Amino acid sequence: MAAILLDIDGVLHVSGEAIRGAPEAVRALRRDGHRLRFVTNNTTHSRRMLVDELRALGFELDDEELQTTGATAARELAGKRVLALTMAAVLEDLGEVELVGEDAEAVLIGGAAETEETSRVFSYMNLARAFHELEAGAELYCLHKNRWWQTSRGPMLDSGCFVAGLEYAAETEAELVGKPSSAYFNAALEALDADPELTWMVGDDIEADVAGAQRFGLRTALVRTGKFRPDTLERSTTAPDAVLSSIADLPAWLEEAL
Ligand SMILES: [Mg+2]
Repeated sequence: MAAILLDIDGVLHVSGEAIRGAPEAVRALRRDGHRLRFVTNNTTHSRRMLVDELRALGFELDDEELQTTGATAARELAGKRVLALTMAAVLEDLGEVELVGEDAEAVLIGGAAETEETSRVFSYMNLARAFHELEAGAELYCLHKNRWWQTSRGPMLDSGCFVAGLEYAAETEAELVGKPSSAYFNAALEALDADPELTWMVGDDIEADVAGAQRFGLRTALVRTGKFRPDTLERSTTAPDAVLSSIADLPAWLEEAL
């Protein structure tokens, strides 16, 4: 039996609509005795909200099985004074982190959504404040550095551009908290008490999911849903162990492979 890390956005659902056969596939994986962890780079919802959303789509999971970037940031930044440019919902998962408006030890950049809140969080004033803190010696962290995410209407600009902009302006490099960082995969494997070589990462993103997991020694399955693009796979030097039409094919495929 394997340990399996399941990406959520683009693997289980797209824009709040479940991928056909995905809830049944998750049930089948459990029935086959696999241990599951749901791993997401979502930066607009708290864990509580994400779990509720998945349950409403028909997925069965415990709160503790879902790992958010906010919760991983809480592990990484515990006890530090942090200027956080993130959606308010994520703050719920930040735990022991001390949030400050100035004199920060770290600047944390979260993700974007198509909302007024995003426009406020990433206003010129806030980005200039973050720049000022970085110039004064704060370290730069980001929940993820995604370029875009897939919606039912097409690709949307993600917050990686704000991270890259601050890196450029402050001549620094951000420490990544979410996928594909080792901090994130480490937290997931620790929670499952699993060895990398006996663990599968299932994702729709060849960079953050597949390449990141391979660097960490995991086995990988890429699904042709969500942000999957045939030409990206063709051009990539990354070769997943499996390429599946969707997660619906995973239980049967694993039964053959293991
Ligand atoms: Mg995804």
